[in-house]
Amino acid sequence: MTGRAVVALLVVAVFAAAIAQPAYAQQQEEDGLRYPVQPGDTLSSIALRFNVSIDEIVRASSLTNPNNLNVGDILIIPGVDWVEGTLFFQNVPLGETYVSLKRRYLLSDASMALLNQLTSPNQLYYGFPAMLASDRGELANSARAVVSAGQPLWELAAISGDNPWALMAYNQLLGAWAVPGDVLFTPAGQAAGPGGLPSGVHSVEVEGIGFVQGRTLVVNVVSDEGTQLGGEFFGAPLHFFAESDTQQVALQGVPLYAETGTFDFTLSGTLADGASFSLTQPVRVASGGYESETLTVNDPALLNPELSEREMQQVYAMVADATPDKRWAGYWGAPHPYINVINSRFGIHRSYNNGEYENYHYGIDFGGGVGIEIWAPAPGTVIFAGPLDVRGNVTIIDHGWGVYTGYFHQSQILVELGDQVQTGQVIGLVGATGRITGAHLHWEVWVGGVAVEPMDWLNRIYP
Ligand SMILES: [Zn+2]
Repeated sequence: MTGRAVVALLVVAVFAAAIAQPAYAQQQEEDGLRYPVQPGDTLSSIALRFNVSIDEIVRASSLTNPNNLNVGDILIIPGVDWVEGTLFFQNVPLGETYVSLKRRYLLSDASMALLNQLTSPNQLYYGFPAMLASDRGELANSARAVVSAGQPLWELAAISGDNPWALMAYNQLLGAWAVPGDVLFTPAGQAAGPGGLPSGVHSVEVEGIGFVQGRTLVVNVVSDEGTQLGGEFFGAPLHFFAESDTQQVALQGVPLYAETGTFDFTLSGTLADGASFSLTQPVRVASGGYESETLTVNDPALLNPELSEREMQQVYAMVADATPDKRWAGYWGAPHPYINVINSRFGIHRSYNNGEYENYHYGIDFGGGVGIEIWAPAPGTVIFAGPLDVRGNVTIIDHGWGVYTGYFHQSQILVELGDQVQTGQVIGLVGATGRITGAHLHWEVWVGGVAVEPMDWLNRIYP
């Protein structure tokens, strides 16, 4: 018998089994939906939410003192026919999406929309406090399989040892086809971790402050050995580097100009077995709380937007790559003797000569006069050393993993292209060259091609 014939027989056998018994048993609750009281809830807000009367909740829940609700008390909501079981809240983690949650908890689009008051699946962003229902045969510990290009569902089911009809039902597929790269629950297996990720990827976490304008994201992924990771955020590719056989990290800046709202965060890659996967999840970018200011520039030629734009492109082209050799370990040193003397902070929204607020301050200005020493804050390679029209005398250092630093307006540059610098090395002197109102060091830090809050890099240790 050929392998294909064996698979076909297997498919017929499991199909027969599927007809004989339902794929999963719906637990019918006689007494109604169970709802845990949340902070801020009142009986009338709960009644309104589920469109039942306060009296019906009081009666079904056998409440003796309806005026004394405690957070965590379980209320019985009678007469709700669009969802059943016990409701609970979960802040949506990275690696979990609207689709993976509704598949995991066997919830319909209508229940998801009503439970979470959604008008679009995109509103279920990372961190959103999602209301979900359990006790419904959910697949919390189910393994996952990734659909390959051109792979029929019956073949995937045969490989994972599942009933293809159960696979269709569990994953709420409309037919015996699925999108390549889609991650399906396979009830026969066991694996922990977020349900939007394949079983070989165990966790995705963002360290620290998270998605905030102008700040550095640290994305940690734990996966099986041999997993290749990539991804995208705000148009920038994510560059992952190995911390160990099973742990990888990507550093990425959140642009200052990212408007507060939801944006797609994509994690993709190739598993050890060669299957490729892709997960796109909405995340919410929070405001960095930056202020505005107006600056006066006496030489109008330097305000030429074409010149600014061309120079900006020139600088960003130099800091777009991520070189694999990470050059720092632990804390960085100070780039300047007076880092507490700040003339202008990072992130300020600027107008020049009372024009429009269309510029951002992409670095931090340390005060002090011409000739003050500038120090390399961490080891790296000098990838640019020379004059620019707006930025004056500029040095740019590559520290590896997509992290670069820039030093503008110098009176003197004391390094050359290709130099290897060490922490604390004098690399130049403060000056007043370029588009500037007085001598200072303008210092920038770029991560994944995006300018970020430089003080973060002096105040914490990055992996
Ligand atoms: Zn500046």
